[in-house]
Amino acid sequence: MSQLKYCQGPKCHTYDTKDRKKGPKDNKRNETRRRSSFYYLDGNACSMQCQGDWFDVYGTRALQHFGYITQPKVLTQDNAWRVRRNWNHPNADTYYAYNYLTEERRPITEQQYNDDNTIINDQGQLTI
Ligand SMILES: [Zn+2]
Repeated sequence: MSQLKYCQGPKCHTYDTKDRKKGPKDNKRNETRRRSSFYYLDGNACSMQCQGDWFDVYGTRALQHFGYITQPKVLTQDNAWRVRRNWNHPNADTYYAYNYLTEERRPITEQQYNDDNTIINDQGQLTI
C-alpha cells in the first residue's frame, strides 16, 4: 500500500466538507486532506481549488527560484517534430514522425512511436 500524504493546498483545511472533519463532538476540527494519491498539482493537491491556492501563495516564488523566461522560446523546422499514429490505415504506414511546420512525415516503427524519447529529444529535434 502506498504511503498517505497531505494535500499541499495551503487552505485545504478551510474548505468545509465531511471528509475533512476530525475529532470528537466537543472538539471538532477540519484537517488537510490526506490520501495515497492526488490528481492535481502533479499529484500533490486534492482539488483544482487547492492547486490554485498553492499557486496563489507559491507560484511567483517558484518562478523566482527556477528562473523566468526572459526571451521567447521558438519553434522552428528543426524542433517541430512529434510522433503520430495514423489510425485510419491499420495496415499501412501507421506510425510516423511529423513536422508541424513543414508537414513532412517520416515513417517510424511502432517501437519508436511507443518510446518517442529515442527519436525526438526534449527540444523537439528528430535524432534519427
Ligand atoms: Zn486540498
